Amino acid sequence: MNQVPAIKLNDGTLMPQLGYGVWQVPDAEAERAVGTALEAGYRSIDTAAIYGNEAGTGKAVAASGLAREELFVTTKLWNGPKQKWGRDQVLRAFDDSLAKLRLDHVDLYLIHWPRPMRDDFVAIWKTFEEIAASGRARSVGVSNFRPADLERIAAESELVPAVNQVELHPLFPQAELRAVHAERGIATEAWSPLGQGKELLTLPAVTAIADKHGRSAAQVVLRWHLQHGNIVIPKSVTPARIRENLDVFGFELEAGDIAALDALGAGAAGRRIGPDPAAFDV
Ligand code: NAD
Repeated sequence: MNQVPAIKLNDGTLMPQLGYGVWQVPDAEAERAVGTALEAGYRSIDTAAIYGNEAGTGKAVAASGLAREELFVTTKLWNGPKQKWGRDQVLRAFDDSLAKLRLDHVDLYLIHWPRPMRDDFVAIWKTFEEIAASGRARSVGVSNFRPADLERIAAESELVPAVNQVELHPLFPQAELRAVHAERGIATEAWSPLGQGKELLTLPAVTAIADKHGRSAAQVVLRWHLQHGNIVIPKSVTPARIRENLDVFGFELEAGDIAALDALGAGAAGRRIGPDPAAFDV
């Protein structure tokens, strides 16, 4: 029943191309929401230390009865500004995430933001290399890294990030960054793939394609990502939408549909919803 294709990461690990994101799901609701997603057929879950719902996510995973190797669990280091991030702090934060998730390893561990003004992501990444070597994260990667940040990682460390998870949707298609990923063998993972369910899903260009295929606007946007090769992690707490967002493997967009959606983000730099990684530090 699980038709989600797998993307082969640069370390050989297979990652489901579509997963379930849990940002803004309170811990007390996470067990039910993640449980609904696992029941619907999702096998990849994207959480983070800062989301405060690793414990609820871990409960749902434990209660699912699914074999650990069937699941792909991602969490992220909250390298927030309250402390200096040396090796010990990173390892402690990772241990804390594993304990909350009730797991002995995660499938993917990400540095949440580069915070380039603090000049510490290379040092953090070296501890991530150690975590990967220990097997406690099957893959390690980054989030919100810009081309210049990826350049520094390449120049100053050994391991190429498996994934860069970034804001990406038709209004903010990240063409330059995607080209850098392709060159370096980094998988592109789209956060806020539905543009947070706001303006994007109401645009006539999107709804016309949805009507033509007898699908929802959200399903059309998810197909746009999948056909471009992006990994997606749409979020919803509504059971019907959780299922709808997974039910995107029974139709395909035509080249003209893709071109019409590409045109939404063409010109200028596109429109970001979230923070700019160049400036984000709080
Ligand atoms: P999203 O684009 O997935 O949109 C989610 C919202 O869209 C929902 O809250 C709902 O209002 C609406 N929606 C969902 N399904 C719908 C449907 N079928 N029809 C109509 N509306 C629908 O936005 P997101 O939650 O910001 O991003 C997804 C995930 O990405 C997060 O949960 C999180 O895991 C991850 N994320 C990561 C970062 C990062 O810095 N790494 C930042 C933001 C989000």
